Amino acid sequence: MTEQERKYYEKRGQALVKNLRGRHFEAHYCPDRETALEKALELIPRGASVGWGGALSAQQIGLMEAVKAGDYRAIDRDSAASPAEREQLMRQTLLADVFVTGANAMSLDGQMVNIDGMGNRLSAIAYGPKTILVIAGMNKVTDCLEDAVTRARTVAAPMNKMRFPNQTPCEVTGTCADCKSEECICNQILITRHCRPAGRIKFILVGENLGF
Ligand code: SF4
Repeated sequence: MTEQERKYYEKRGQALVKNLRGRHFEAHYCPDRETALEKALELIPRGASVGWGGALSAQQIGLMEAVKAGDYRAIDRDSAASPAEREQLMRQTLLADVFVTGANAMSLDGQMVNIDGMGNRLSAIAYGPKTILVIAGMNKVTDCLEDAVTRARTVAAPMNKMRFPNQTPCEVTGTCADCKSEECICNQILITRHCRPAGRIKFILVGENLGF
């Protein structure tokens, strides 16, 4: 990352932190993934049960590995021995002490956009665990909400779909066709515009490119 990119992300990060706090979110800006990991571990109480979903950025800063290795109760659906157990763990995640996730896009005025296939991640954000911890790289930040929705639908969703082995238009062409396929992963779209109760959703903005 160049010095200019670092400064650009820092300026926008400071503005976004201020705007998120104005919407009663807790918000922190960390210049890199190392400081972001430190801050995240500071925000998760020892002994807490921790679940996650849509958390590639959190994985990239090393948070999931640190939770699994640390003094926490990790609810890891990828540890399931069967689809039924996986489903059970996903439901348990909705009642974890802390839910870790990412953002498909954020607008500079402090709103977050996420898209979900099953709805488990969006359920957790909207009315699940008492603490939601969002790790988001500054590459997710757009100038306005309209651009954030466009980013979530035309960049994040098609890239996310590449992870799953079945064919939708975006997986073939790289472009969203607003499909109605059975395998569509764009089934729920959530805009999180304000935080109630105050401080329940905590953001760690990272001055690097993370996730997609
Ligand atoms: S083509 Fe379908 S699955 Fe792919 S991004 Fe668009 S709506 Fe989502």
